[in-house]
Amino acid sequence: MDNCIFCKIVSGAIPAKRIYEDDELLAFHDVSPQAPVHFLVIPRRHIRNIMELAPEDVALVGHLLHKAQELAAKLGCAEKGARFVINCKSDGGQTVDHLHIHVLGGRPLAWPPG
Ligand code: AMP
Repeated sequence: MDNCIFCKIVSGAIPAKRIYEDDELLAFHDVSPQAPVHFLVIPRRHIRNIMELAPEDVALVGHLLHKAQELAAKLGCAEKGARFVINCKSDGGQTVDHLHIHVLGGRPLAWPPG
């Protein structure tokens, strides 16, 4: 999608600190980290948010989550855990309209969120 910042990261038009990529997804460090570990896992395909997932996306979602877990462990979060977050639309605090999983770890995180 032309004006989507994450599509531009996927295409390479905008740089990002990439952690992992394959045919389906991309993982990269958040530009404004809120914890010692803070990265995003996104599908290459432009899906606006979790409300727009279709039944045929089930395998993709499993892959996104599994890769988020695997990379969190690789980045040192296996023992103490991490937070896996998907913000959706305005009430959910989504600012980039391309589906993404936040993975935050490396420090204790408060709950509930504000
Ligand atoms: P959300 O508010 O859930 O939509 O999260 C969007 C996230 O994308 C925020 O944490 C931003 O810091 C992050 N972000 C925005 N632009 C970039 C970028 N160019 N590279 C990496 N992360 C970004």
